[in-house]
Amino acid sequence: MGKPTGFLEFPRQVQEYLPVAERIGNYKEFVLKLADDKAQIQGARCMDCGIPFCNNACPVNNIIPDWNDLIFRGQWQRAIAVLHSTNNFPEFTGRVCPSPCEAACTLGYNAEAVGIKSIEQAIIDKAWSEGWVHPQPAAAKTGRKVAVVGGGPAGLAAAQQLARAGHDVTVFEKNNRVGGLLRYGIPDFKLDKSIIDRRVAQMEAEGVAFRTGVLVGAEALPAGISNDAKETLAADSLLAGFDAIVLAGGSETPRDLPVPGRELAGVHYALEFLIPQNRQVAGDAPNPISAAGCDVVVIGGGDTGSDCVGTSYRHGAKTVTQFELMPRPPEQENKALTWPYWPNKLRTSSSHLEGETRREYSIATKAFIGKDGKLTGVKTVRLEWNGNRMSEIPGTEEIFPAERVFLAMGFTNPVAGVLDAFGVSKDARGNAKATIDVMGGYATSAAKVFVAGDMRRGQSLVVWAIREGRQCARAVDEFLMGASVLPR
Ligand SMILES: Cc1cc2nc3c(=O)[nH]c(=O)nc-3n(C[C@H](O)[C@H](O)[C@H](O)COP(=O)(O)OP(=O)(O)OC[C@H]3O[C@@H](n4cnc5c(N)ncnc54)[C@H](O)[C@@H]3O)c2cc1C
Ligand code: SF4
Repeated sequence: MGKPTGFLEFPRQVQEYLPVAERIGNYKEFVLKLADDKAQIQGARCMDCGIPFCNNACPVNNIIPDWNDLIFRGQWQRAIAVLHSTNNFPEFTGRVCPSPCEAACTLGYNAEAVGIKSIEQAIIDKAWSEGWVHPQPAAAKTGRKVAVVGGGPAGLAAAQQLARAGHDVTVFEKNNRVGGLLRYGIPDFKLDKSIIDRRVAQMEAEGVAFRTGVLVGAEALPAGISNDAKETLAADSLLAGFDAIVLAGGSETPRDLPVPGRELAGVHYALEFLIPQNRQVAGDAPNPISAAGCDVVVIGGGDTGSDCVGTSYRHGAKTVTQFELMPRPPEQENKALTWPYWPNKLRTSSSHLEGETRREYSIATKAFIGKDGKLTGVKTVRLEWNGNRMSEIPGTEEIFPAERVFLAMGFTNPVAGVLDAFGVSKDARGNAKATIDVMGGYATSAAKVFVAGDMRRGQSLVVWAIREGRQCARAVDEFLMGASVLPR
């Protein structure tokens, strides 16, 4: 604990945002990195708790009190070494993680939590800019070959760990660039894509081979799933050519809303809007869906919905309304009841504040209405909740004008065809079945086939994908070598 009275002396240091008028004119990141001196003060607020709840709440178990202390002492190079010991990609989580660590921070019980995420970003951004992040190729090669299917955070974390353990790793990705939802999903204004590119370059220097535009296993994909593949590889050819396979294909099947009018032009899955936007920013074709001048309704209140809100404002939408089936949560959680767990409370994202976002709760969509095949509005009804049961309130039907609707209600399961092609058993939700046990974890029902990330746990978070990729890599290394020194 660098400064025993730091938490009494200093308020939480917050990252500054570029003004709304400036940022909605482009897709650039607008959250400014905490300056070194402010990060130092932030670190000084840490109480170095005997039981650091932050460390336990963090899915990759970042050793947060240690790097808070190192930053306070100005020892940035040691801080990045500690941070990298638990997290391959802190520049991703430092930008997009919802920070369960901060919800669990002891200081947050009766004051403002330590700004852990801002310190994480400050450490890794400084490490990159100072040239402290180098490739770490394995000292010796094992001669074993591993295929990783899917280039999202789970696949990337698994690939990097396995390459560092000396295996020959090839990542197969159906899209034209790797990154998974980090690349095509999460908007550029939350995560600049050059940040993924420099990690990929590091991994290439460590010996990881990337094959993009290659669809593994499935002959065809359901509608609404992004696919640039020019080549398809059968599961059998991977099974024959590799000693182990890691499936990290995410949970890509979007949840639909099959109400009357679903077929109208103007009703889209969220990713049908967000992915082409990321492609446009990357210099590919323009987004075929425009929200300019439109009344936009976003159905679904999570991260994906919020990204549709921010992107719609950047398009110049006339109005943006967001629907949520559940009741409006409280503005503030009751810490005595919720701490150190993730609280249910109203979450207002930076995107919501980029315009006059209308947020409607306890509302259900009855139908999409239109004229000449084009969407003109959304018919809704208000809901009453009794515990977990909801009922429609008679006489509360309304029509919201809308030329664009984005369905952001989550993802139901991975693409079944890919799992079937490898003969992998599924759980009741359609995810690949595998435990996370120390012994036998991440192994599927198919010989030498492992699974990690959203494909195993269902739609989740980047930080969980990184954790699963790392742990899965250790399981694969143990399977191939009989023992592993990779961290779990
Ligand atoms: C719009 C949006 C915003 C989000 N925002 C956040 C956020 O702010 N913070 C956060 O923590 N989480 C966020 N998430 C969730 C997070 O992005 C995911 O939980 C995470 O990316 C899952 O990682 P993954 O590697 O398991 O899968 P993915 O990131 O989905 O990557 C899977 C990859 O596998 C490829 N693939 C699939 N099948 C095949 C195949 N057969 N052959 C070859 N390649 C294949 C896919 O093309 C994809 O690139 C968001 C999700 C969405 C949709
Ligand atoms: S819980 Fe908060 S105060 Fe305690 S060690 Fe973690 S960051 Fe520091």
